[in-house]
Amino acid sequence: MKICVLVKEVPDAAVEKRINASTGRMDRSGEKNLNPYDTHAIEAAMQLREGGAVEVDEIVAVTMGPESAVRALHKAVSLGADRSLHLSDESLAGSDVAATGYALAKALEKESPDLVLLGQQSDDGECYTIGAVVADHLKMPSLTQVIKLDIEEGALRLERQAEYGYDTVKVRFPAVISVGDAINEPRYPSLKAIMGAKKKPLENVTASDVGIDASLVGADGSRVQCGEFHAPAAKAAGQIIEDEDTNDTVEKIVAWLDERKLI
Ligand SMILES: Cc1cc2nc3c(=O)[nH]c(=O)nc-3n(C[C@H](O)[C@H](O)[C@H](O)COP(=O)(O)OP(=O)(O)OC[C@H]3O[C@@H](n4cnc5c(N)ncnc54)[C@H](O)[C@@H]3O)c2cc1C
Repeated sequence: MKICVLVKEVPDAAVEKRINASTGRMDRSGEKNLNPYDTHAIEAAMQLREGGAVEVDEIVAVTMGPESAVRALHKAVSLGADRSLHLSDESLAGSDVAATGYALAKALEKESPDLVLLGQQSDDGECYTIGAVVADHLKMPSLTQVIKLDIEEGALRLERQAEYGYDTVKVRFPAVISVGDAINEPRYPSLKAIMGAKKKPLENVTASDVGIDASLVGADGSRVQCGEFHAPAAKAAGQIIEDEDTNDTVEKIVAWLDERKLI
């Protein structure tokens, strides 16, 4: 079985999110990292391999992004992927979620995976949508918010987190599964794996290499139009109640809530 894991390079969580007003795109300058949600997808692939219920021949990390995105691939490989695929092309810049999903699906077609795993959301765009878009293009079943993944009788047996509890769903291969962050605790890469990551096979492909229709990607191929951006209104400072005497503190909190008819 071949598993492809979608991984994305995102601005580090400590960097304040800003929109570049002139382009309408997120300002992605500054410190970057592998999207933390994607480490759960890599870990899920590793646990499938180690679980032994199915023979996992290859785990391939796949990204679409500028040159710098190679660092996300190195991190993915240090966490266990065997090799990686980097789709990078000027024509892809400015792609919205539909165009990004289409481009990733074209790159995945080249790999013919049995299973595509991805994170529930990116830490920057937070669209929660790529899995569904990719699955639609690949004509594969898709499930989101998966928090348990097992193999049963040659198919996937998945638990999906929902507002009302859990759905248990059986899905045949090939499939596109977006995992929730409750699915596992990602491992830390060993020093040896970090050092060796740059030596693992990495394939660079352009849009034309994977047969992407240029009219469906980039700013011109995207239907989302960004309007004006405004910073959220500053919130008034809150009230801090110092806990000098707990009975007194509780009374103050109850009085505060009562005043606002919250209790
Ligand atoms: C008008 C417009 C212009 C944009 N221009 C740019 C741009 O120039 N450059 C840019 O980087 N972004 C750009 N974006 C943002 C880009 O469209 C989103 O990053 C993309 O749509 C994916 O959305 P998301 O990251 O929120 O995905 P989500 O659906 O939240 O992500 C879910 C999962 O999908 C996978 N995933 C998402 N994106 C990738 C990727 N690129 N490669 C591999 N796996 C991925 C990850 O596993 C992730 O955990 C633009 C968006 C708009 C609306």
